[in-house]
Amino acid sequence: MSETPAAGRAGMRKELPEHFRDYRNVWVFIELERGQVHPVSWELMGEGRKLADRLGVQLAAVVLGPKDEGTRTAIRQTWAYGADICYICKDAVLTDYRNEPYTQALTGLVNAYKPEILLLGATTLGRDLAGSVATTLKTGLTADATELAIDDEMSLAATRPTFGGTLLCTIHTLNFRPQMATVRPRVMAMPHPDMTRPAGRSVWYTLGVAEADVITKVLEFVADATTNEVNLAYADIVVAGGMGLQNAANFRLVRDLAAVLGGEYGCSRPVVQKGWLPAERQIGQTGKTIRPRLYIAAGISGAIQHRVGVEGADLIIAINTDPQARIFDFAHLGVVADALQILPALTEAFARRLG
Ligand code: FAD
Repeated sequence: MSETPAAGRAGMRKELPEHFRDYRNVWVFIELERGQVHPVSWELMGEGRKLADRLGVQLAAVVLGPKDEGTRTAIRQTWAYGADICYICKDAVLTDYRNEPYTQALTGLVNAYKPEILLLGATTLGRDLAGSVATTLKTGLTADATELAIDDEMSLAATRPTFGGTLLCTIHTLNFRPQMATVRPRVMAMPHPDMTRPAGRSVWYTLGVAEADVITKVLEFVADATTNEVNLAYADIVVAGGMGLQNAANFRLVRDLAAVLGGEYGCSRPVVQKGWLPAERQIGQTGKTIRPRLYIAAGISGAIQHRVGVEGADLIIAINTDPQARIFDFAHLGVVADALQILPALTEAFARRLG
């Protein structure tokens, strides 16, 4: 792996080594859990399509799961989201996610069919799987990429924040294949599925792992009620507060406005560090990435680590007492005012209008 900028690498690799030429196509791992596909998989299919078109190769989806309706539906959806090929492994040992059989299935498929690029969601499952697959295959993995591109040498340029989010670095896997990257939910835009798109080529893979060979057993699935309630990443409207709200009690103002608008609420990192709101409400580089239609940020200064988590929003409205606050550099609308006064006024106005 190299972290050298593309421009500085000119001439480093004129031609792909012989053994790389067998590696072709862009693959997206479709994250399927308890019959549901994680939406980040479709976001990656949209991004994968662009990479495949630039390389002039095919886009493939990889579906691993049990022999049930959830897996069948996921396979059907892959065509709508642009797959030319779907690699399928259906096996009872893949019912619940466990690292060992999933790693064996994915590495087995990679060794058999040799993709040049393999993308996974940077979810809890995706991060666990990507790490062990990359280690097993002895290849490079860029974690939490925020941008993917194909450079002039036709290699994957995966960009991610580094040095605490103050710099962006572009990582190239020069000497190994496949080139792997994970991408966080909501970083890439959600493509529109085309339900009329015909099915492509299905490739079936036999795993050959017996349940008795898998050390990890899933005894029970206990849903985390708190996490399930917070749908920040996929909310259409998000209202967030920062240190400008001054204390935990004032976050009632953020919650009230979010509730009236039918949205979710969130916060900046120091708010979590203060213990005013739980970690699943944090937005930004080390919290959630959001892409709402409307984002209202109250008393948030707009540090780069916050910005990277919100700049995909369609409309950003910032409320800040400081006219020089950095958030005004990227907000679409700026209100120089006291959030403690504006938030309740907005809640009241929207309640009257919408209620
Ligand atoms: P401040 O920077 O203190 O800003 C408060 C703002 O409120 C000011 O602009 C002030 O003018 C305004 N204000 C004050 N009173 C009022 C009022 N009454 N009405 C309206 N405005 C008012 N931060 C994140 O948010 N998310 C992350 O994921 C994240 N990850 C990080 C990762 C790393 C490795 C590091 C080093 C930092 C990270 N940070 C993150 C922290 C980030 O650098 C900032 O410190 C943080 O975003 C600042 O939070 P804030 O804007 O709430 O507070």
